[in-house]
Amino acid sequence: MSSSYLADHVQTLKPSGIRKFFDVASQMENVISLGVGEPDFVTPWNVIEASYHSLEQGYTAYTANAGLPELREEISEYLRQTFTVTYQPETQVLVTVGASQAIDLALRAILNPGDEVIVVEPSFVSYAPTVGLAGGVVKVIDTKPENEFKVTPSQIEEVVTDRTKAIVLCSPNNPTGTVLSPEELEGIAAVLKKHDILAISDEIYVELSYDQAATSLAAVDGMKERTILISGFSKAFAMTGWRLGYTAGPEEIIQAMTKIHQYTMMCAPTMAQHGAIEALRNGNESVIEMKSSYRQRRNFIVKSFNEMGLSCHTPGGAFYVFPSIKETGLTSEEFAQKLLEEQRVAVVPGHVFGDSGEGYIRCSYATSLKQLDEAITRMSEFVQKYI
Ligand code: PMP
Repeated sequence: MSSSYLADHVQTLKPSGIRKFFDVASQMENVISLGVGEPDFVTPWNVIEASYHSLEQGYTAYTANAGLPELREEISEYLRQTFTVTYQPETQVLVTVGASQAIDLALRAILNPGDEVIVVEPSFVSYAPTVGLAGGVVKVIDTKPENEFKVTPSQIEEVVTDRTKAIVLCSPNNPTGTVLSPEELEGIAAVLKKHDILAISDEIYVELSYDQAATSLAAVDGMKERTILISGFSKAFAMTGWRLGYTAGPEEIIQAMTKIHQYTMMCAPTMAQHGAIEALRNGNESVIEMKSSYRQRRNFIVKSFNEMGLSCHTPGGAFYVFPSIKETGLTSEEFAQKLLEEQRVAVVPGHVFGDSGEGYIRCSYATSLKQLDEAITRMSEFVQKYI
């Protein structure tokens, strides 16, 4: 009899480094949080109303496993209009419980035990654990600050083996905010095509691209056939709590994902799907307004960090900055811990996003300018002691 009922691979799984920190912060008073990655806006009213109305009309049952046909059509239309990529709504689009579930399904649908998946770090905290849970092996690429944390084609070449099945890419990136240009995506695509590697392209922040038009890896020549596009409503439409995302890709893969989804989830929440239809039909103006506010906050916070003596590149998207704290001589964990204790500002230590995140902190600017201003005043006072 083993000493635990738990599966070995679950026992070794570490809890998310982000949550750990925020459980502590939530017990303290007067804390300004630049920690959790979610919009400070409430979901646009027309979306809330559409969801209410669906309930009033009695739409309280399961939907089709793959999601409401009207929603899949809207998603397909949105992808066609935005990126000029076409997906058949009936067979190539699946509505999921957040982008999170789509990532999990994609990995489970494609991985045999021991298959390798390239994860580009610093990265969103769920990629490496979900690869492991799906039986895959993570191959990390560490990106460099001097290259704005962008992965290069030659870095991919270096880690490819005959077991490489897929790469997870995220642009705009969490935690660095880095956006890959169409040319950079083409360079990456060439290596993926050469070695027959699938791309799981997490594009959840794509609408929050500030300096260039939103681009999708699936739109790069020859990539639609090998890209599992992941996106959702959480970020651009301020709908994190609605738990609604989607995936689009080659029929064989989307159908396999739908099979797993059918047995493990049935369908995404029905009322949220009704809200999402409205979001895609009439939500664009709200997205533009929120985006303009994020852009203003980004410019403020980047300038403030650089003035404080913490070097910070200007991220092209998402709502995070990733300033260096190396100048303080503290580790990122020490920095975040002391900053919380002494100045009551919560940030995320960079190492939770991978080893190459050490020496940095992630700050979300999805909070009001007033709060950001106060956070910066407190942080400046803190940083003065060290540099
Ligand atoms: N991908 C990235 C890069 C994220 O930052 C997040 C949320 N923090 C997700 C996926 C998950 O989003 P969802 O709420 O749609 O599950």
